[in-house]
Amino acid sequence: MPAAVTPADIENAIRTVPDFPKPGIQFKDITPVLADARLFSGAIDLLTEKFSPGSIDAVVGIDARGFIFAAAAARKLNAGFVPVRKKGKLPFTTIEQDYALEYGHATVAIHTDALQPGARVLLIDDLLATGGTSSAAAVLVQKLGAKIVEAGFLIELKFLNGREKLSGFPVRSLIAY
Ligand code: AMP
Repeated sequence: MPAAVTPADIENAIRTVPDFPKPGIQFKDITPVLADARLFSGAIDLLTEKFSPGSIDAVVGIDARGFIFAAAAARKLNAGFVPVRKKGKLPFTTIEQDYALEYGHATVAIHTDALQPGARVLLIDDLLATGGTSSAAAVLVQKLGAKIVEAGFLIELKFLNGREKLSGFPVRSLIAY
């Protein structure tokens, strides 16, 4: 059997692109991880390792790269997949949550019938930066009466202290910068 994938293996494949999408941003490009079958599968194994199939009712993924990891994690945990999307993309009735950006604000949305009250949710995104996006997604999940069992991220930019915006549930990242 090939050796299990470690967070260091994944870190080695992440490409940092300077000044994208604007000057000063060090963009963490995860596409080389996705393109490598062993690393992609290993990332999903690591993101789901604390949970057995059946212990999570829904994996909530955040628009857009979060969908990729969340959908694969849902399949592995035999759970449903629920998208949190940017405002204006979901077709049915939604609830929305605003959050602050460096300049201005953004809004995320979830379908009103996406989660049952009491549902056990694993929240997943590719990267935790300031925590604005994931804390807004967490508010939506909680407004529907579901319970966040964990928020999982492939990457955490520790110096932005995003974790401080996420309280009431465990926060886990595989790789920290
Ligand atoms: P934040 O709301 O500040 O925690 O930002 C998190 C969201 O923005 C995630 O959905 C990430 O995909 C994206 N993001 C923020 N900073 C970066 C970065 N340096 N590299 C790649 N994606 C990022």
